[in-house]
Amino acid sequence: MAHHVFGQSFPNLLGCVCGLHGTENEIDVAVGRFDAGGDWTAALSPADLVLSPAACYPVYPIAASRGPVPAEGWLFDVAADCFRREPSRHLDRLQSFRMREYVCIGSPDHVSEFRERWMMLAQEVASDLRLTFRIDYASDPFFGRVGRMKAVSQQQQALKFELLVPLRSEEQPTACMSFNYHRDHFGVTWGIADASGEPAHTACVAFGMDRLAVAMFHTHGSNVARWPTAVRNLLGFPRNDR
Ligand code: 5GP
Ligand code: ZN
Repeated sequence: MAHHVFGQSFPNLLGCVCGLHGTENEIDVAVGRFDAGGDWTAALSPADLVLSPAACYPVYPIAASRGPVPAEGWLFDVAADCFRREPSRHLDRLQSFRMREYVCIGSPDHVSEFRERWMMLAQEVASDLRLTFRIDYASDPFFGRVGRMKAVSQQQQALKFELLVPLRSEEQPTACMSFNYHRDHFGVTWGIADASGEPAHTACVAFGMDRLAVAMFHTHGSNVARWPTAVRNLLGFPRNDR
């Protein structure tokens, strides 16, 4: 399952569902403790359910089950409610947020081209939405000491870029989109083979829908009727009555 990969990189952010799986009597005892204001959580045990931290994670095992990737590669369009156990009071950091992703699987050249193309397209989208932004190298918040080394190497190899919008401040801009090249990481992990039998390469472009919404309100104001007409038209809003 996806949590295997995630567990190695960000175990600290994992959201794992627990339930009351005992006998009727055991569950009654737990409920009794709860009613008495005591600690009932000792009766919980893990379910086989882990909340996905990224929309693309479930795609890789599905792709692997389809057999070798054809020469023209595969493109998936996915969206999911994602979860990261990262409590914060900031509006741009939610523990549960909506992510839309395009996931490309294929040869190194094909996948790199996909990411390059989307880095250009995404800037056009951001410009059309009249957002202020810049693109920069980034790294994932890998857990622990080994993780910090992974993050440095990810940045040095330019495997992750983000489209940053200055919401809170110029110094701490918010990542609203990311462009990730995983090389053969998921291909090896899940046994996805390309047309030549080599581990397939993968890349994903991710759009944080909540953050983009926050960015739009921050930029254009809370009254959508006052948003620029070009932006309203682009988003398919009804015409303003005059
Ligand atoms: P990544 O996998 O690159 O960390 O996340 C992909 C996208 O999801 C980010 O570019 C961002 O837009 C969105 N995202 C990541 N973490 C959070 C979060 O804590 N809250 C919200 N609202 N969006 C997030
Ligand atoms: Zn992804």
